[in-house]
Amino acid sequence: MWRDLEISVCKCDSGQLKEKPDQDNLGFGNFFTDHMFLMKWTREKGWHDAEIGPYKNFSLDPAAMALHYGQAIFEGLKAYSGENGQVFMFRPEDNFERMNASALRMCMPRIPVDQVLKAMKALVYLDKDWIPTAPGATLYVRPTMIAVEPVLGVRPAEEYYFYMILSPVGAYYSEGFNPTKIWVTDKYVRAVKGGVGTAKTAGNYAASIMAAEEANKAGYTQVLWLDACERKYIEEVGTSNIFVKIGDDLITPPLNGSILAGITRDSVIQLAKSWDIKVVERMISIDEVLAASEDGSLTEIFGTGTAAVISPVGELCYQDKKYTVADGNTGELSQRLFDELQGIQYGKQEDPFKWTIRIG
Ligand SMILES: *Cc1c(COP(=O)(O)O)cnc(C)c1O
Repeated sequence: MWRDLEISVCKCDSGQLKEKPDQDNLGFGNFFTDHMFLMKWTREKGWHDAEIGPYKNFSLDPAAMALHYGQAIFEGLKAYSGENGQVFMFRPEDNFERMNASALRMCMPRIPVDQVLKAMKALVYLDKDWIPTAPGATLYVRPTMIAVEPVLGVRPAEEYYFYMILSPVGAYYSEGFNPTKIWVTDKYVRAVKGGVGTAKTAGNYAASIMAAEEANKAGYTQVLWLDACERKYIEEVGTSNIFVKIGDDLITPPLNGSILAGITRDSVIQLAKSWDIKVVERMISIDEVLAASEDGSLTEIFGTGTAAVISPVGELCYQDKKYTVADGNTGELSQRLFDELQGIQYGKQEDPFKWTIRIG
């Protein structure tokens, strides 16, 4: 059935095209391009009605299951504008493979990765004039799948929409790195082993908002999550994976059931290893991190994710005590990883891992 998925293309009339936003004030996820991709799934027909068409509302039955029980998953990746109008994407296949892992956990149908990749390239190419050219600015791609069957029973839905929308986003760090202040919470947890922390599913983010609000109120940018059982081991920072540099070791928590397998995380691990840096995937307690901060062996902490690439941490607050990291500055390794990854993503640097694909 997948092999036959036909993608129809219906372009906007020139009168339907939107005015493009000012590139200097994009922020994140505020604007959407002229076109979108949509396809539908039913048990009888599988994926069908695949179409690239004008960006538009769709109408959902108020009983649509995603709205009640949260069968909703998403992805996030970017298109980068290189020199001479070239367009690059970074490891996009990995995003769709991960989406299928999320789908499995949420009892949702698999997407046909090759077809969806093809649709995404066509969509991004069609809206390529929307890809910002300012340094660090990108076109963010948001693939999403939702359960749309109108039934109030709690069970896997039998009808789904899969769609992709595009949003031009500004540089995360337009004026150089700005190390973040992190609030370590032992009050809230993000995910528990056996739960859905390994899936990029909507409810995880709804569940995280209150902790983020409390952190913001206290003057902190992000929350550092501890494990749900002992509230002892560090897991993630905001919606990013976390790395800690202690002595010669670059340490990150292992993917053992409550952590999202970030593609940036994997890229950082591979890059650091290729530079002969010792990367250790192991559980690490907040006490160990803070002890290393006090004895001076902690040199860097940073988050990794598609949005910011590398997000250096300048301060931690745990149980009302503050700890400065890397003197509040950006660590050497954070900077090197950021420069290298950005260079590869924008097609400016050699790409030994064959991570980038050129789509225009
Ligand atoms: C998306 C996400 C990440 C980062 O994944 P990337 O593939 O690197 O963008 C990390 N943690 C959580 C909870 C996420 O949702």
